Parts: sequence; structure tokens; C-alpha cells
Amino acid sequence: MTQLETQRLTNLLRARQAELNGSVRNRDEIVIEKASDSIDEVQLMEEREFAIRNLDRESAMLRQIRRALDRVADGTYGVCLHCEEDISPKRMAAVPWAGYCIKCQEQIDRSEILVADPIELTPAA
Ligand SMILES: [Zn+2]
Repeated sequence: MTQLETQRLTNLLRARQAELNGSVRNRDEIVIEKASDSIDEVQLMEEREFAIRNLDRESAMLRQIRRALDRVADGTYGVCLHCEEDISPKRMAAVPWAGYCIKCQEQIDRSEILVADPIELTPAA
């Protein structure tokens, strides 16, 4: 990873982090507002579940982004947390918060390697 590329992806991560922080806050307000207005309990429950699932996903994403920014700060960004090889720039561009190279990630997905934090979210479409 070149310094320029790291800088570009760092900016991307920060922007996504700000966006998610805003969205997590807004969703709290939406859920509360709906809870006081709606009388349809089933619909209300579904909406709440949907919001919670989204929130879970967004919280997980925020955690991944925070970790990636930590790695930028300590100079290990773009290096695989497992084998310590450089992660391909193409992979970093596609998944800027990636902590593992593609080879290790595949093994993690197949549970051939056990790591403390195996979660790796793919970018939302
Ligand atoms: Zn690796």
C-alpha cells in the first residue's frame, strides 16, 4: 500500500464512520417516534426488529471501521492480522476495513483458522 492509497482509504473510512454515526443516531429517534404513534403491534414489532437488525449491522460495521483506523494509526493498516503479509491493494480498495488477506479470510470463513474477531462485513450494495 502506498501512502497515498492509505490516505485515500482513510478518508473513505472516516466518511463512512461519520455517515454511520449519524444514521445510528437518527434511527433511534425514528424508532421512538413510531412507538408512540402506531397502534399496530405486529407491524411495530417488525419495524423494531428491522431497525435492530440494521443497527446491529451498522454497529458491527462501525467497530470494523474503528479497528481499521486504529491500524492506520499504528502503521499496520493493509497488513494481514494473521499471516502479516500485505493485503492486496485491490482487496483494500473493495473492503477498506479488511483485517485479513484473502487467503486467511477464506480459511477463517471455513473455520480453519480461529481468530478473536473473524467478522468481516462486505460493503453494502
Ligand atoms: Zn493472511
